[in-house]
Amino acid sequence: MDAAVFRAWITSAAEVIEANRDHLTQLDAAIGDADHGINLARGFTVVLGALDAAPKAPATPGAILTMTGNTLISKVGGASGPLYGMAFRRAGKSLGDAADVDLPALSAALDAALAGVQQLGAAREGDKTMVDALAAATRAFSKAIAEGASQDDALDCLAEAAEAGAEATISMQALKGRASYLGPRSVGHEDPGAVSTALILSSLRDAARADR
Ligand code: ADP
Ligand code: MG
Repeated sequence: MDAAVFRAWITSAAEVIEANRDHLTQLDAAIGDADHGINLARGFTVVLGALDAAPKAPATPGAILTMTGNTLISKVGGASGPLYGMAFRRAGKSLGDAADVDLPALSAALDAALAGVQQLGAAREGDKTMVDALAAATRAFSKAIAEGASQDDALDCLAEAAEAGAEATISMQALKGRASYLGPRSVGHEDPGAVSTALILSSLRDAARADR
């Protein structure tokens, strides 16, 4: 997977977040402050502009993800901006200067993203956050790779596990973030950040598949 795949990932993520902007905002209206879709859609629009406008377009997968993270941190408010910013920055750093990324390198980068999110936000699995989608996804991805899955199959596992991880948040009580203020009343709603994480990871699957 080269820089073009990662560029396509971010472009597709921006489109998918924009298409789901109202859905994400409605999910956040139920257990938060109704800004998640608006926040993220605006952030990814700025990211696309930054990637296009950079005097020297980022030429490696790592540089693309690092620029994405830096932009999200500076442009997206709320809890999710710094958390997603951290995730993309850590993933970018993990990829280093490599021009081409194989499955184990991508898996390590996603593990680094998860570690960054948990370092910053201190959420564990089961707390009803984006961590529930991201942790399930990274675990399924590394298992698929260890079992010798093809790139397409491993990325399918990644995206499907993220979606299942997001769905699993419905029955959870929020212990982190704004939704935790609701206590038991947060149960019965899907976590908006977990849903956006699943959307972003399904964009990665689609971008890598379209490449082949
Ligand atoms: P805010 O809650 O500040 O309005 P957003 O609405 O953009 O920010 O994002 C809310 C999402 O952020 C939640 O659905 C949850 O997935 C995620 N989130 C909040 N706090 C944390 C945390 N400490 N760790 C991981 N994710 C978190
Ligand atoms: Mg919010």
